[in-house]
Amino acid sequence: MTTTRFAPSPTGYLHVGNLRTALFNYLITRKAGGTFILRIDDTDPERSKEEYVDGIKQDLEWLGITWDKIERQSDRLDRYHAAADKLREMGRFYEAFETPVELDLKRKKQLNMGKPPVYDRAALGLSEEEKARLRAERGDGVWRFKLDHQRIEWRDGILGDISIDASSVSDPVLIRGDGQFLYTLASVVDDTDMGVTNVVRGSDHVTNTATQIQMIKALGFEPPDFAHHSLLTGPGGEALSKRLGTLALRDLRENGVQPMALLSHMARLGSSDPFEMRSSMEELVEGFDITRFGAAPTKFDVEDLYPLTARYLHDQPFEAVADAIAEIGVPADLAESFWNVTRENITTLKDLAGWWVLYRDGAEPLIDDEDAEFVAQALALLPDGPYTVETWGHWTKQVKDATGRKGKGLFMPLRKALTGQERGPDMRDVMPLLQTVRAKS
Ligand code: GLU
Repeated sequence: MTTTRFAPSPTGYLHVGNLRTALFNYLITRKAGGTFILRIDDTDPERSKEEYVDGIKQDLEWLGITWDKIERQSDRLDRYHAAADKLREMGRFYEAFETPVELDLKRKKQLNMGKPPVYDRAALGLSEEEKARLRAERGDGVWRFKLDHQRIEWRDGILGDISIDASSVSDPVLIRGDGQFLYTLASVVDDTDMGVTNVVRGSDHVTNTATQIQMIKALGFEPPDFAHHSLLTGPGGEALSKRLGTLALRDLRENGVQPMALLSHMARLGSSDPFEMRSSMEELVEGFDITRFGAAPTKFDVEDLYPLTARYLHDQPFEAVADAIAEIGVPADLAESFWNVTRENITTLKDLAGWWVLYRDGAEPLIDDEDAEFVAQALALLPDGPYTVETWGHWTKQVKDATGRKGKGLFMPLRKALTGQERGPDMRDVMPLLQTVRAKS
């Protein structure tokens, strides 16, 4: 039975980088059958906010990424204490008292000597008296996990065979001086308690994985299968980490990006399979294969989401957008033809309102000086509404006969006069939608 989890920290809103992690874990579970857990990593009470927990749920719901269970790390502190006690008993956990400034100094010295900046384990040499003195002076120390200095190896679902020398990694801090558990231990306890079988996360977690594999084994469990996806970069290959805040899912939603366009893109970006527009989660699940993803950084351009959204919408039947159309006030008897006429001329559903206002209230006419006389002549021939799909043909024929104009010189000035636009849907279909012809009045 497959169990995966998506484990965001509620210290901000989800962005496209998080979405990749969420989606991959979700698709793996839905494909294999099993349990997908939404785990809220909220061990940091200062930075975690309820507003973000709610936001994360809303964003996942918007995308149709549904979870079978929700867990919160803040509810599970007892379990983390028990694991810490166990590691202490096993001699794999030690208290250290260096201040951040001292640690920084050590790192700089090591780097100057051309050595990797790995914590030197000075705290292991402290006697009980020295620790008591330091505790009295500085307060409680941090607790570090004592790594076994051997190679840590695993077969990564995306990166392939990985081998990391544990002596090149600092003993990770698992509990802060103020007693707060850090994600590294909490995650290990959760993954083992909850029977997580597969962990997909960003490649920035590779070193964490190495230390977590040792912790999981020390606690007497089998590590899950790990896969680390590449990190997204901007279109020019620049790191996205700083800009991710501006790529929040809620902003994309606000801007009219369609969930299926976004999901279809994300399910293939960085994979050796070509993009395919999917129309349902089932199709996404069907076509997903994590082994097709590569280790190289993956370029992401937010602008790509708009043509994809347009492409997705062009193929949508009226039923799929009926609510959105009703919301902007299109009368029910016009709604379907409004959609059929307009859909190829929108990028997002937000563009529909503009077209509707134009049809309803009439456009500010666009009339070039050299066409003014011609347009006036043509408008004098325009019959009174309501119009049908025949109106445009009849009218333009009459105008042609009366003025001798034809082709673009005939049609374009009339389109511009009636719609205020150079481009748009077929005028034959637009005419029946025109509630007001401002150019005439
Ligand atoms: N809360 C961690 C993060 O957001 C989870 C990492 C993991 O998936 O283990 O980076």
